[in-house]
Amino acid sequence: MSSAYTPARVDEKGRSTFIADFSGEIASAATDLASIGRIFYEKNWVLGTSGNFSTVIARDPLVFLITASGAHKGELTSKDFLCLGADTSVISGSGKPSAETLIHKAIIDQRGAGAVLHTHSKWATVLSEVHAPSGGFAIEGYEMLKGLSGVQTHRHHEWLPILANTQDYAGLQDEVTRLLRDRPDIHGILLQGHGLYTWGTQLQEARRHVEILEFLLEVTGTRLTMKTAHSGTI
Ligand SMILES: [Zn+2]
Repeated sequence: MSSAYTPARVDEKGRSTFIADFSGEIASAATDLASIGRIFYEKNWVLGTSGNFSTVIARDPLVFLITASGAHKGELTSKDFLCLGADTSVISGSGKPSAETLIHKAIIDQRGAGAVLHTHSKWATVLSEVHAPSGGFAIEGYEMLKGLSGVQTHRHHEWLPILANTQDYAGLQDEVTRLLRDRPDIHGILLQGHGLYTWGTQLQEARRHVEILEFLLEVTGTRLTMKTAHSGTI
């Protein structure tokens, strides 16, 4: 963060007041997120306006940029983002922030994440349904695990928890907060029949985590399909 930026201020009611000139940071972050949106769309991870992305612009107090609700992630422009304060009120931008803003906020708060990325891929949807009764599943033995921050070996045991899907985002925010507090080792969360959340200290790390986890989900799903085809069971 450049020291040239003045931090936002919180007024006596706890609302963030946008007094700083973050326009350069916002424009740059929007360009980066739009680029990631095009790549993810091409991969079929964010079809039909699904998914949402956020990145932190400033901390103390928090200012973060998030995709607007209903924006097509393959065609994002600077108008498709809103800047929010620590209370998730809109500081700048038009439209409505993503309906899942509170999940992003929980991850930013609990993990100190600099960026949160959410996808709706086929394999995240399928595997989160298959493994929902167990509350998650482990991925281990793959070299690609080493793309997750802090992982040094393919022998790493990555637990991917699954939370029930809901439209009660305030309740889900609490659940995600509890989960992240209880499991400091995890790199992602699946919502059942819905998609993947992951994060990073910076946007590029979050993007890498999406690529790694989506790869691992695809491998896990493909392997399961081959196994069931071989055994003749569904
Ligand atoms: Zn979603």
